[in-house]
Amino acid sequence: MTRPDALESLVSLAKRRGFIFQSSEIYGGTGSVWDYGPFGVELKNNVKARWWNAMVRERDDVEGLDAAILMHPKVWEASGHVSGFSDPLIDCRACKARFRADKLGDAACPRKPSKQPGEHADCQLTEPRQFNLMFKTFMGPVEESASVVYLRPETAQGIFVNFLNVQQATRQKVPFGIAQIGKAFRNEITPGNFIFRTREFEQMEMQFFVEPGTDMEHFERWMQARLDWHLGLGLDRDRLEFHQHTEKELAHYARAAFDINFDFGGTLGFQEIEGVHNRSDFDLRQHQEYSSKKLEYVDQANNKRYLPYVIETSVGADRVTLAILVNALREEAVEGEQEGRTVLGFHPAIAPIKAGVFPLTKKDGQPEMAERLAAALRKRFPVFYDEAGAIGRRYRRQDEAGTPFGITIDGDSTANDNVTIRFRDDMGQIRVATSRVAEVLGRYLEADHARADSRLVE
Ligand code: ATP
Repeated sequence: MTRPDALESLVSLAKRRGFIFQSSEIYGGTGSVWDYGPFGVELKNNVKARWWNAMVRERDDVEGLDAAILMHPKVWEASGHVSGFSDPLIDCRACKARFRADKLGDAACPRKPSKQPGEHADCQLTEPRQFNLMFKTFMGPVEESASVVYLRPETAQGIFVNFLNVQQATRQKVPFGIAQIGKAFRNEITPGNFIFRTREFEQMEMQFFVEPGTDMEHFERWMQARLDWHLGLGLDRDRLEFHQHTEKELAHYARAAFDINFDFGGTLGFQEIEGVHNRSDFDLRQHQEYSSKKLEYVDQANNKRYLPYVIETSVGADRVTLAILVNALREEAVEGEQEGRTVLGFHPAIAPIKAGVFPLTKKDGQPEMAERLAAALRKRFPVFYDEAGAIGRRYRRQDEAGTPFGITIDGDSTANDNVTIRFRDDMGQIRVATSRVAEVLGRYLEADHARADSRLVE
């Protein structure tokens, strides 16, 4: 069954609530480039921090790296990007639309969206021609072919060229990995679907270097580990699936590849959010040849030297953020109320704001008490103070922003020093002493849900 299309409502919600804005909007926007607003940057930072913790900090066999975007142009010759990082482009002479020849099946004819390009009587499709996806620019003051550099189309190559630097500096032994998070740029032919396919995006990549022959066992372990990571973000199990690359889909250097697909609903349906690839020793071998520098690993204990094989996990921070938004969006009826509510049901751990703090009225010392509490909580979590409008409206605004907890200060609070905590998902409420709010929120954040549960308060 196809899930409903959430993208249209998400684009407007994301703008309204300050998650994501179109780049350079006042000039009419830049094609498929987006800016993250105050809530969006917190959400994406939480995703990146979780990845970094899981891949680097919690492990002793993966090291971190932050390589530069601009690299020696020969890197991209060695990697095969100059000659081969291209998509087959097809134009329609009749309607001037552009398509990727390998994705024609997913595209709609602009004149008749129920048909594929080429199926309408007016269609005049050109033969496919190869279009390189790398952005080119010049280094230094002279715009000549000798000074061409590229904006990296993936972060991985920064890891390959630093393989021995990292290994020697850390004295890691194979098997071990190198991980980094960084911007990548692709001049995509058919970008779109909000932040699903953009021309500037962030990748979180890890290359795990292993002894040849042990590669498939590591490959399978990483596939499972990566699926578990997505489940830990709160993505529904039945929206996730593995897709194995067929012979035809497999990149020339890859021995095996699986995508982790997420069901975005609507016409997009299941699409790749992460790739897990067995790249063999292709990249190190290429860089060894093009740089004329030995990149072999020396296994002293066993008196062996070899070029390691690489298991790569490559995931887009923006695409995962979109999956989280799609997965979290709910429109629901509220008992006893005419208006329903829109909720972003994020796992509390990745929610941009953890708690809203609301004085019930603007008098009787309630705002002062609420501001004091908000200031104290801010030392531990991002919180949002709001005293404007009816309390129901304030709750709704935070539901839409995905804030898991709401703390209300009323007349009883100023008299007896306690507050109400309201939970986003079941709208249940509990009363706790003001001095315990931080501790109770901490327990909920650890339990990672936003439903009233008296056991977490006792
Ligand atoms: P596609 O077939 O969708 O173009 P790909 O197979 O080229 O993607 P990879 O090179 O394997 O993608 O990139 C790894 C990850 O980087 C993808 O799973 C995706 O999450 C992310 N990614 C790739 N291209 C884009 C893009 N244009 N916009 C946003 N994220 C992207």
